[in-house]
Amino acid sequence: MSVLENLARIKAQLPKHVKLVAISKRQSVDKIQEAYSLGQRDFGENMVQELDIKQKELPGDIRWHMVGHLQRNKVKYLAEYIHLIHGVDSQRLLKEINKQGKKVNRVIPCLLQVHIAAESTKFGFAPEELMDHLGNGDFLEFEHVNIQGLMGMATNTENESQVAGEFKSLHRLFEKVKNQIDQANVHMEILSMGMSSDFEIAIENGSNLVRVGSSIFGDRKI
Ligand SMILES: *Cc1c(COP(=O)(O)O)cnc(C)c1O
Repeated sequence: MSVLENLARIKAQLPKHVKLVAISKRQSVDKIQEAYSLGQRDFGENMVQELDIKQKELPGDIRWHMVGHLQRNKVKYLAEYIHLIHGVDSQRLLKEINKQGKKVNRVIPCLLQVHIAAESTKFGFAPEELMDHLGNGDFLEFEHVNIQGLMGMATNTENESQVAGEFKSLHRLFEKVKNQIDQANVHMEILSMGMSSDFEIAIENGSNLVRVGSSIFGDRKI
């Protein structure tokens, strides 16, 4: 199947309120161009260096999303142009994003990543930890970040009810933060959950942004 067919099929499956970020990591610039020519503007990468190269080569109206684990010493390379950082998983990282945002005179949109999977390898705040930080006002001083929502990854399993349960729990946390936290730099609007294998389940359970890679572009280069 071509990028054209895949993109059309997936878009047709998405309700109007759900945004599609095409995850283009380890995919060629040509394939990204193809999706771009079909109107896709939101693309996601997980390596700063690769993102940097592609961002310079591709059209300036692409909205670039950073979806992988972001190291603090790399934030400076994307501070100027990044549209949304999905994987903010520590106060130290948020502090560094704030610092770099200040340097380039931007308020950088961020999502806080929450650990919802059973696997211990996935990054993110524990739900209680996140509520503690927000409740304590730990992020209040960061005026150059805008916390626009939450992001999570479900366990990589065939067990759909487990996946659904994990997405549901993140949706509940999202609503809780939205209802309980009133801070100048917190605006809960985006719930980023769902990838190729589980985006339908994610949407059923409250996602309004899906990150789909291989179902659009095919297998990645290693
Ligand atoms: C790679 C990646 C995706 C997309 O995965 P696919 O299975 O190719 O759809 C989504 N989110 C994150 C954080 C990723 O690293």
